[in-house]
Amino acid sequence: MYDVNSKHADDFINQEEILETLAYADENKNNLALIESLIEKAKLRKGLTHREASVLLACEDADMNEKIFRLAEQIKKDFYGNRIVLFAPLYLSNYCINGCTYCPYHMKNKHIARKKLTQEEIRKEVIALQDMGHKRLALEAGEDPVRNTMEYYLDCINTIYSIKHKNGAIRRVNINIAATTVDNYRLLKEAGIGTYILFQETYHKESYLQLHPTGPKHDYNYHTEAMDRAMEGGIDDVGVGVLFGLDKFRYEFAGLLMHAEHLEAAFGVGPHTISVPRLRNADDIDADAFTNGIDDDTFAKIVACIRIAVPYTGMIISTRESQKTRERVLHLGISQISGGSRTSVGGYCEPEPEDEKSEQFDVIDNRTLDEVVRWLMEMDYLPSFCTACYREGRTGDRFMSLCKSGQIQNCCHPNALMTLEEYLMDYASPETKAIGDKLIDKEVLNVPNEKARQVVLENLRLIRENNRR
Ligand code: SAM
Repeated sequence: MYDVNSKHADDFINQEEILETLAYADENKNNLALIESLIEKAKLRKGLTHREASVLLACEDADMNEKIFRLAEQIKKDFYGNRIVLFAPLYLSNYCINGCTYCPYHMKNKHIARKKLTQEEIRKEVIALQDMGHKRLALEAGEDPVRNTMEYYLDCINTIYSIKHKNGAIRRVNINIAATTVDNYRLLKEAGIGTYILFQETYHKESYLQLHPTGPKHDYNYHTEAMDRAMEGGIDDVGVGVLFGLDKFRYEFAGLLMHAEHLEAAFGVGPHTISVPRLRNADDIDADAFTNGIDDDTFAKIVACIRIAVPYTGMIISTRESQKTRERVLHLGISQISGGSRTSVGGYCEPEPEDEKSEQFDVIDNRTLDEVVRWLMEMDYLPSFCTACYREGRTGDRFMSLCKSGQIQNCCHPNALMTLEEYLMDYASPETKAIGDKLIDKEVLNVPNEKARQVVLENLRLIRENNRR
């Protein structure tokens, strides 16, 4: 039975409801009057239900699709301005006891080099990341309750927050680790994590069970209910996502939005972020053997429809995607991207030897952070290294209400400008700095409040004189 409030996975991700949604979307994919009315409703910027958004995703009419793309771009601009938040993944350990058929960490893979970083190695990796200019990390690990214990993760988080080096400091640590208990989520919250990220991989229960044949991750309900436990443990910023390519994208899209609706209904706050990874080739994994891959046009449509359906939710894209694809979807709704990433365990401070490769998947966008920052600014985006919301406790519903009130523009824009100037002073190449300074001088004029603008100008002057407050 479909019940958005129920805490049981089979109720809030009800498989029959998804099938009915897909049938409804299919019946209405050429119903132009309905599609037009849904676009009008979406213009109110209050989002759409999974059924409504599924009709837009199914729509085949070229003019309507054009309207959908234009609206997604406009909503993106209205809520996020031109800011793009930057982060890097840090892989802690690739030991894993699961049997996921699409992931190179699967237990039967004997040729991937297995590694787990010590606290000393983490220090070195983090200093290398700080020296690039990163302020936010997403920790990643396989699932191995003996090797990758909660104690280990807590030590890692403490180590990372304690490293101060030159002007560098990691100010927000997000974490993407296997589903766990309410008590463990509470410990993660106490250790000061930002977002707890867990991808559903697929919302199709039967496929899920086949794709995760062995190990703790096989337990579909435990995995699907993880965000409920995280919220119970006090983590109010959670990040969801599916791995596109595993099952049919329309099914995943409806499931993803139902999950978001459930979190909003049950806890008063939807997901903080949605990630849109696509399956990639990896050691022992041939992505082409999976038959549900999606092309770039479909991918762009999915991003646009998510943007319209959940306007307040951040959207993340990783270096699994090329520069060209990232550029396309940035306009349509992405608000956070990774840059200069390595998906190996270690490898930021020194490249891995050829015979000891531990990476999770092939990184397609191999540019440095400096190159990514420059590229963003050349397109008039404002790379943001700001972590103020998190530092000041504006998470969960407090962040969402700031976002909904429209005030984010008065507070995020100045913070983005100042943190970008700090980045330019500390880490950027001369070419990047020149482009950035010009952009900042132009963008400071867009701080709406006169008094706030004067404060920003004064702070920028101090930062440029190396005289920081
Ligand atoms: N242990 C964590 C868990 O159980 O969810 C996952 C951490 S894993 C490092 C992060 C994500 O990488 C997975 O959730 C999955 O979506 C993604 N991933 C796995 N294999 C992949 C592949 N071949 N291509 C792209 N992404 C992949």
